[in-house]
Amino acid sequence: MRAKTLRSVFVPVLLLFLSSPSQAQKLKVFISVDMEGITGVVHGDQTGAGGHDYNMARKWMTADANAAILGALDAGATEIIVNDSHGDQRNLLLSELHPAATLIAGSPKPMGMMQGIDGTFDAVMFVGYHAKAGTVDGVLDHTISGAAVYSIRINGIEMPELGINALVAGQHNVPVVLITGDKAVCEQAKEILDDKIVTAQVKEGIGRYAAKNLSSERAQQLIRQQAKAAMEKRKEIKPYKLNPPYRFELAYVRSSQADNAMFVPGIKRLNARTIGFQTEDYITGYRLLRGAISLGRE
Ligand SMILES: [Zn+2]
Repeated sequence: MRAKTLRSVFVPVLLLFLSSPSQAQKLKVFISVDMEGITGVVHGDQTGAGGHDYNMARKWMTADANAAILGALDAGATEIIVNDSHGDQRNLLLSELHPAATLIAGSPKPMGMMQGIDGTFDAVMFVGYHAKAGTVDGVLDHTISGAAVYSIRINGIEMPELGINALVAGQHNVPVVLITGDKAVCEQAKEILDDKIVTAQVKEGIGRYAAKNLSSERAQQLIRQQAKAAMEKRKEIKPYKLNPPYRFELAYVRSSQADNAMFVPGIKRLNARTIGFQTEDYITGYRLLRGAISLGRE
């Protein structure tokens, strides 16, 4: 009798426990936040510490990040890691960041804009991203370093930061589901990554230093709505991968910068200002690329 009573109580409770979605489903989101693609940002005075509009732009950056966090939460996210990915990576205002998120701040970090990603995540979001160096109507267009980099090619494809970073996520089988920024970066994301990626276009460039912007309120509504939609679509969006070996080509702005990179064994000179190297493992190549860019910062 006693065993039967116990069974009649515990079996349903056990089944309830096993079927409870809150117990079983974890949904982890990694958000990399840059600054040039933030709503309202159109000039270096807004993106560089010391610029007279910088502190205001940090608030805008935090607001765009919060909108993406809210959209992820709307879709059931249980853990959100935000990586500050701009400049010295000390821009987001922790005191204003949504409490559901954890913030990775500061630099240098071995994986830079992708510090913190691993295979336990379900989705990646790029917030405030910008187009690659040499893009017409790309607000503050550049690739990693305006001072050092003219262009970066990986396996022959000229890459914006979004492609270089999405390949890191792809190594962990995690798709980039959302990008926010200007019209040009949204177009480049659809060209290079799976075109099912969800975009939130918060501004349209008019040259490099001007843009037509949505109001802050409308931009945040759009980002939140698109972030939720992106999470709901995440299983349809393929992680970004290229086949090894990975052939990196880095064209510097000046030939003297390529001279500096010649200190590193394994790096070859392709022409006056271009260096190249090849790796079997993408993460190794990504780190060497960042090292070579640092050597180019004279
Ligand atoms: Zn940036």
